[in-house]
Amino acid sequence: MKNERRDFLKKTGLLGIGGFISPFSVFSENQQKRFQFQQNSYLIKEACVLSMDEEIGDFNSADVLIENGKITRLGKNIEGPSYTEIINAEGGILIPGLIDCHWHLWTSLLRSMAGDSAEEGYFKMTARYSRLYSPEDMKLAATYAIAEAVHSGITCISDYNHNARSPQFVQASFDAMAAMGIRGHISYGTYRDLPDSQPTDFKGINELKQFIDSNSKYKGISLGLGSRSVNYNNLEKDWKHARDLGLRITIHASSNESQKGQITSLFKKGLLAEDVNIIHGNAITPDEIKMLEDTGTSLTMTPYSEMRIGYGLPKINELYEANINCCVGIDTTALTGNAHLLDTLKMLQNLANANAKDEFYLHPKEVLKMATINGAINLGIDKKTGSITPGKSADLVLLKKSDINFSTGNKPYHLAIEAALQENIDMVMAKGKILKYDGKLTGINAKDLIIQAKNRFAEMEKEIN
Ligand SMILES: [Zn+2]
Repeated sequence: MKNERRDFLKKTGLLGIGGFISPFSVFSENQQKRFQFQQNSYLIKEACVLSMDEEIGDFNSADVLIENGKITRLGKNIEGPSYTEIINAEGGILIPGLIDCHWHLWTSLLRSMAGDSAEEGYFKMTARYSRLYSPEDMKLAATYAIAEAVHSGITCISDYNHNARSPQFVQASFDAMAAMGIRGHISYGTYRDLPDSQPTDFKGINELKQFIDSNSKYKGISLGLGSRSVNYNNLEKDWKHARDLGLRITIHASSNESQKGQITSLFKKGLLAEDVNIIHGNAITPDEIKMLEDTGTSLTMTPYSEMRIGYGLPKINELYEANINCCVGIDTTALTGNAHLLDTLKMLQNLANANAKDEFYLHPKEVLKMATINGAINLGIDKKTGSITPGKSADLVLLKKSDINFSTGNKPYHLAIEAALQENIDMVMAKGKILKYDGKLTGINAKDLIIQAKNRFAEMEKEIN
């Protein structure tokens, strides 16, 4: 594999020569020399393909042709046009790029900072730090989070920006996603100190919408409304306003026992529909599950943050058994510590089996759906991504099968969910561009980014104390 890789790099002119147009590059050990990845046409050879497309099914070994960023063919013995570069994926497992349906990217500088007393808990801690952020800090934090996301196989993120102090604070998420080359959806939310008496910033939302709609670099990144809480007085007015602008709506609801009944309240106001993403729902009732079913509303579980903050267990069994579009998210690394989304899926699978007291209750394919095709449906982009289907965007993850923890075994769904660590994620591709290759990020200088994030966090820490 090593020699083939070198040959591949040489053949494609990626070794040693600078001056390409693309921003995507791999940095060598000494950070001096850039290797560029500029193309978006490849032929992936002999991968075990888990397409997550029921009509296409899976392949023990197949080739995937990618031309101009799109999957054009999937099958055996494909010969690519001369301009495509060959990636030998023999023995690897190819899955669709993962879709994270709920994340507050700006909190990434505050990794594992939710502390051990009432004053240091997640909400108060993030509120204190949130006041120190500038738009540049928002962009740095989002970039730092996206780099970890790509490292973890995530190619699309739904960012709920709740440090939205001005349109520039939200534009920072757009700029970070565009620069990093991923897909995304960004909800324009509120900020921690915003009083209920102050109306939602629709002037800012309009301004930002016009700006991103008129700039092609934000293609593949959409704007949504990060809704105020269920009890907010002008909720119906806000949602009508958002829908008039064509914005999807994300709201935290029925997160814990003290918020029980919130989904009923939304349903009674006639607000639930296919364009709504309910976050958490740990206290959802059987009646409310039916309400989500009847209205086509999606629900996103963020199990690690929910459990860490004491919201209780996700209602995985009840939600899975209902006909609901279930999705998953990281939420915040201030609580979860990391962004290993495959591990989140593993936890859900294990929890479901434990609850059911049944070894065979939830197949790993069912949880992988939650982070692929279900996520795409949630964000209204299932025609473009979410499965390995000809015609869709080449948003792909290759797990290599040669590491110590990931070498034997022949059950690819079980391996992908149960065995894979972030380091087994060999290649990540979004829109046909390689963002991680040979286990290394290609779009950014990771070492520099880590130093910047560390330094800014250290400054903020000083400002706080
Ligand atoms: Zn959240």
